[in-house]
This record gives sequence, structure tokens and C-alpha cells, in this order.
Amino acid sequence: MIVQTEAIVLKQHKIANNRRMIVLFTKKYGKISAGTNMNEGRRGKSALALRPFAYSDFELYKKGSYYNINGSDLKKSHYSIGEKLDRFMASSDMISYLEKIIQEEQPSPKIFDLSIEFLEVISKANDNFDTILLSFYIQSLKYLGIMPELKKCVNCGEKIDGLDYIFSVEAGGGLCNKCTNIKTIEAGDRLIFRPTFDIIGTIDYFANNRMNKFLKISLKRQFILQLKQILNSYVGYYLDVDILNEEWGSPKLGGK
Ligand SMILES: [Zn+2]
Repeated sequence: MIVQTEAIVLKQHKIANNRRMIVLFTKKYGKISAGTNMNEGRRGKSALALRPFAYSDFELYKKGSYYNINGSDLKKSHYSIGEKLDRFMASSDMISYLEKIIQEEQPSPKIFDLSIEFLEVISKANDNFDTILLSFYIQSLKYLGIMPELKKCVNCGEKIDGLDYIFSVEAGGGLCNKCTNIKTIEAGDRLIFRPTFDIIGTIDYFANNRMNKFLKISLKRQFILQLKQILNSYVGYYLDVDILNEEWGSPKLGGK
């Protein structure tokens, strides 16, 4: 059967007989792997359409869960991602996150549209790549159905004010001062964060603003790292996904 779908190229690798396997995030079928005879050396739009970060229309031959790429038509190459190291790193982190959260043959159209938005915005960005990446992570939680509770205490429903709460990954949001006292909080619990800044307010801001707003918002490195730690703990708990790569643990990049 011949099918058509839009897709983002997540990665490609060589397989036997001069063929390539392209991992695609398709709008209609979720994540799929598709074989092709087309190769990088070939010039023109069809070859560019197979590069990582490209957004393209594909014509696929589908038989069961086997896919072959019959043709491709480039919509956006997002070539500028490769022109700057920080932009490339943030975009690569986003792609590897997608690979982990998108299920094979299960469409996720909202996350697909969010991914297109991310690629558009990061392609234009000259700075603040990590801020844009954070907004992508946080907004994806909505569509994955695991957005933390941001307005009130998860336990008693009381409105949370100021910094008088803890952020509990396990509880799925903020716990007010009263409920924190009832629950025994073990020191060093990696699922508990005491706010040194307004964690909930910040996540709420990221969740409810369009991504292009973050083109102009630069956050302190320290702040970005803390938010990343919290999110890593959060998606690790709910999705068993790790968003921190070695770069974040390495002191050499700590100073920016
Ligand atoms: Zn409470």
C-alpha cells in the first residue's frame, strides 16, 4: 500500500546493500523506520529531505510494519541548526528526547506540531537555545498527559503562594507547607525539590507561552541547570526517560 505523510527526520544510518534506514517521526504513524536506496551523495531536494532535522512530505510503501521510502519532498531543511554548535546540541537533545517518547506506529499529532514549532524557532534563534529547549520539554508534558499541577497543592487543593511549598515529582506538583509537614520528607530524596526560585510559577510560564517568546528570554545558566534537573527527575519518574546527557554533568561546559 502506498501512503503519504509529513515527517521529521530523526536520524539515518547505513544498512546492507548500499541502503539506508531513516528513522522518521511521521504525523500519521508516529515513529517508524523506513528503508531507502537514496543516498547522501545525491544532490537535490530528495536527498536533503532525508537529513536529520528536515521536515518533509514522504510517499511510503507500507507493508505491515515495513516501510520503504518511495519519494520525498523537502518542506524545510532547518539547515541553520548545523551552523552553530549550541543550536545543534539543543536540537540534538530534542531529537533524542522525541525518539524516546514517541511510540512506534502511534500518532502524536500535537507533539508533532510542537516539534515543528521548536525546529522553526530554534532555526531562527541566535541565543537562548536551552531556554527554547526547556519550553519544548515542558510543553510536551501537556500532550503526554503528565503536566504537573501548577495552581494548587496536589494534596489538599489549597492555593499555593510564594515559595512556601515543595515540588514533589511523586505527587505530581506542589505540596503546600501544611501537607509537607504531614508527609515525611526524607532528606536527599531526589523526587523532592525545595524552591530556591518559584519552580511552579516558572513551569507555568513555560507551559503557557508560545515558544517564539523564549527567543528573547535568557535565563541564568544556574537556573537552567536546576530546571533541567527537576524535569529530568520528573520525566525519569513518569516516562523512564533521561534528558540529561553527559554535557550537563561535565564541569568544562559549566561556565557557558
Ligand atoms: Zn496542601
